[in-house]
Amino acid sequence: MKAVMETYKRMNITPTKGKGSWLFDENGDRYLDFIAGIATNSLGHAHPALVKAIQEQAAELIHCSNLYEIPLQAEVAEMLTASTDFDKVFFCNSGTEAVETAIKLARKHAYNEYGPQKSEILAFTQSFHGRTYGGLTATAQTAYHEGFGPMLPGFAYAPFGDLESAREMVGSQTAAVLVEPIQGEGGINAAPEGFLQGLRDLCDENGAVLIFDEVQTGAGRTGHLYAYQGMGVVPDVLTSAKGLGGGMPVGAVMAKEEYASLTPGNHGSTFGGNPLAMAAVRAVLGVVDDPEFLEEVRFKGRILKNALALIADRIPGAEVRGEGLLLGLDLKDPELARQVFEHCLEEGVLVNLVAGTTVRLAPPLTVTRAEIRHALDTIRAALDDLVGVLVGTSAARHQSAVA
Ligand SMILES: *Cc1c(COP(=O)(O)O)cnc(C)c1O
Repeated sequence: MKAVMETYKRMNITPTKGKGSWLFDENGDRYLDFIAGIATNSLGHAHPALVKAIQEQAAELIHCSNLYEIPLQAEVAEMLTASTDFDKVFFCNSGTEAVETAIKLARKHAYNEYGPQKSEILAFTQSFHGRTYGGLTATAQTAYHEGFGPMLPGFAYAPFGDLESAREMVGSQTAAVLVEPIQGEGGINAAPEGFLQGLRDLCDENGAVLIFDEVQTGAGRTGHLYAYQGMGVVPDVLTSAKGLGGGMPVGAVMAKEEYASLTPGNHGSTFGGNPLAMAAVRAVLGVVDDPEFLEEVRFKGRILKNALALIADRIPGAEVRGEGLLLGLDLKDPELARQVFEHCLEEGVLVNLVAGTTVRLAPPLTVTRAEIRHALDTIRAALDDLVGVLVGTSAARHQSAVA
């Protein structure tokens, strides 16, 4: 790895093969993957439908440029618009590009409708919107900005969940409000009751575009195709990436017709929406965008969340947050969180840490109930060993917790 820039602190694991919810390393050791490439391997590893779609499309046409008609892109855009409240889709290759596109689109809309003075983007503390300058500026965490200044002008920040502060900050200058319905990297923080609806109202009152960044929460992760569909608040624009391609790099921005302000020459992407990526998205949606599948995601999410809540009950201050199969067990203690993470790793269960104290669980959406039991047993055993909180590992307690 000497020649690779050290932008990641890597664990000492070298996965060389994956199947379902499992990763296998070069020594043949296996790991239960409860992080799924950070909510990206939505169908797990080597899902036959995804493999077949990519293999077949690769043999036909990988890339041809958006200079030409791409029927598969049109088909996938129609699949997405048919299953959401949006009318138009722009395809790119990552989450941060989707956020950039959403910011550009919102500013262009404000410029067209109100003029150049309406350009401010309101974002929230503990947010994460990606690593390029627009997304980075919107990411209201100083640690990510350190050394990379100046950030872009025209951004403002309000405390996440504090509607009163947001009300003070949204005005005629506001082009858009950008928010994650559940903050992922910030610690799996769900928007408190009424917050998203409050932002919806503020945007309506001030002619601002409401953008939900669903890069992490989208593509079925919460047991809805998009998290907003379970929250009763519809944004004007939505970003998607991570799980959308099941591991193929692909991002999307969806907008209602009146906000689809980008026109030829305004924006583009060499790779965005190419046939190979579109074949992957079609395969992923073919599995995920199905009421029964999403219901099962919600069911598995409830099993996992309820069992984690029983564990958290026995640890002072600990709590469980999140929705569907995007869950965080906040142990409130960075050292304990790190030890749980390491214990899981030693036992062959992959999770990760967000915001220092929160163990994030984001298994493939195809995870089995038995695999969920296995992960829960491992986490319980870790906490029993570490703090003797008597969370219990007996079969009987186990049954009652997850049945
Ligand atoms: C991961 C993430 C991004 C950035 O996505 P990349 O594909 O890494 O650029 C943006 N927003 C949210 C909410 C994310 O979770």
